[in-house]
Amino acid sequence: MIRPFLLVLFLMPLNLKAQTITGKLVRVIDGDDVLIQTIDSTFNVHLYGIDAPELGQTYCEQSVAHLESYLWNEATLYLKNDINQEGISAWVVIKRNNINVEMVRNGYAWYNRPHTINAELARSEMHASRFRLGLWKSNDPVAPWDFLSGRLSRPVPTDGKLKVLICTDPDAKYYHKRYCRDLERCNDNVIVILREQAKEINMKACRHCY
Ligand SMILES: [Zn+2]
Repeated sequence: MIRPFLLVLFLMPLNLKAQTITGKLVRVIDGDDVLIQTIDSTFNVHLYGIDAPELGQTYCEQSVAHLESYLWNEATLYLKNDINQEGISAWVVIKRNNINVEMVRNGYAWYNRPHTINAELARSEMHASRFRLGLWKSNDPVAPWDFLSGRLSRPVPTDGKLKVLICTDPDAKYYHKRYCRDLERCNDNVIVILREQAKEINMKACRHCY
């Protein structure tokens, strides 16, 4: 989730070179940002590699509630990036659970594919998707980055009888009733065509949205 700018004005921990920091989780800002309090400071920590549903998206509340179940616990932060104006990005470990992984594995957050490469997070998301956990209970979950950016520019969903959506990639085999998650992987354009036209070029109905 995008962090409100005010919350970015945190106090820097004194030892900036430390690879790990321990502190108490004192507040949940949203499904992927928390406030950590150490002996000498309180600061904003982004859970590395994950992106939780935005306000107004399905599963936003559940995502925050799950993180809140860890309030007042001791957390160990394994710092990932340089500290920048967005705060600290870290793996957050509480009671031996890697919370970043747990959020993704239970469908409370997405693996932040556009900005991270991490096999464990990728595997965790596949697990959640396969077993339809959390946000994956929806037939057509929308990634937060799409919710924020691309949504309005998408083709208008159709009723699936006359018109369908297809990816213009030559390898695309299926036509879609709506902008389903398979189309989110389309590396080409998504266009609306007549269903008859799609059938003429041997496309078949998508198993996920039909
Ligand atoms: Zn589909």
